[in-house]
Amino acid sequence: MARLVMKFGGTSVADIERIRNVARHVQREITAGHEVAVIVSAMSGATNQLVAWCREAAALHDAREYDAVVSSGEQVTAGLLAIVLEGMGINARSWQGWQLPILTSNAHASARILDINGTELVKRFKERHEVAVLAGFQGMHKDTGRITTLGRGGSDTSAVAVAAAIQAERCDIYTDVDGVYTTDPRIVPRAQRLPKIAYEEMLELASLGAKVMQVRSVELGMVHNVRIFVRSSFEKPEDIDPHGTPPGTLICGEEEIVRSSFEKPEDIDPHGTPPGTLICGEEEIVEQQVVTGIAFSKDEAQISIRRVQDKPGVAAAIFGPLAEANINVDMIVQNVSSDGATTDLTFTVPASDYQRATDVLIKSKGQVGYERLDGANDVAKVSVIGIGMRSHAGVAAKAFKALAEKGINIRAITTSEIKFSLLIDANYTELAVRTLHSLYDLDK
Ligand code: ASP
Ligand code: MG
Repeated sequence: MARLVMKFGGTSVADIERIRNVARHVQREITAGHEVAVIVSAMSGATNQLVAWCREAAALHDAREYDAVVSSGEQVTAGLLAIVLEGMGINARSWQGWQLPILTSNAHASARILDINGTELVKRFKERHEVAVLAGFQGMHKDTGRITTLGRGGSDTSAVAVAAAIQAERCDIYTDVDGVYTTDPRIVPRAQRLPKIAYEEMLELASLGAKVMQVRSVELGMVHNVRIFVRSSFEKPEDIDPHGTPPGTLICGEEEIVRSSFEKPEDIDPHGTPPGTLICGEEEIVEQQVVTGIAFSKDEAQISIRRVQDKPGVAAAIFGPLAEANINVDMIVQNVSSDGATTDLTFTVPASDYQRATDVLIKSKGQVGYERLDGANDVAKVSVIGIGMRSHAGVAAKAFKALAEKGINIRAITTSEIKFSLLIDANYTELAVRTLHSLYDLDK
């Protein structure tokens, strides 16, 4: 008997019919004898609507009230699913964040989970065989007792946190999003679904542009060693062998599974291993690929500050005001000056902040001291990710050569232990992604 967390995203609970489908997934696991806590998102589009209403009510509104409003979406689905389950003869009870409670920080609208009390849930698993249906995305401020929310996409984080709190063996996250691929299949049709990916790689992928899971949920999974399984919903249900096991995917006892809610619930063997992507610890990946995946983001802008004074305090004078303006600076490249007096400094910001960033820099020109600003909005960041880079030299060098052969100019480069990112003209994004995808043998 396993203890499971099952998380369903907005499209999986978009209407009553789909909620019934979710209930059949739950039923399958209950019938198999498992203890189940379900985490639900708001019905598809509901949160957007709630957010829009807050904005319409007042452009500048109190985050505490924003949380009071937007947390209601999940409350609705939790109650509805419990009703449907009860109707099917399954013991079920809904829970909101304050009822467990799920204690969070005071950062309304982007609160962090501090502690979850899962005692009552576990007691009810044992005594009543009761399914716990939890509203995702929300918690309770540890001091004031007010409702908080965890930031958009936060139900993923709720699910991982609950899985850790009740020591679930598995946390199935059912989603409409395709599993984790080597890159976006819309750009590279030959992109492969990854059987396994390490937490760190998934973190990089998620933060560099892949939109599979909320970044923070992966972080949390890594910290608590919650294993996550991502599976594709683009597969046709009739193409799936419910008893099939993709190589090495589900060998672990304690895991988080992200998988399709579009499979027929009764087609899935609850003791078998459904196809998907397992997010797990590095040591579980037996045969490491040097490169695991390629992420890209066109939402980038480049700013170059020409002939900026080369002396202590200049970087602080540039980036301090940008930070104060809440502008996230990403790649930063600075030249060593040749004349000892001035140098060039290039960095990227989100495209949506380009104008604001430029304004901030123009304002601080006197204090910083530079000749001129150059910028470009039509740039893209392509990132190559893989834990194998730790032990392999020349991985990036290969990319530079391959891109050069395609006539793609690299504007800036940054690297870390397990990834490197290249800034290029946005027009070449697809070509670059495809080129790198085959270069690193990801086409198979
Ligand atoms: N309903 C929330 C959102 O749309 C949380 C979630 O679905 O994860 O952001
Ligand atoms: Mg989501």
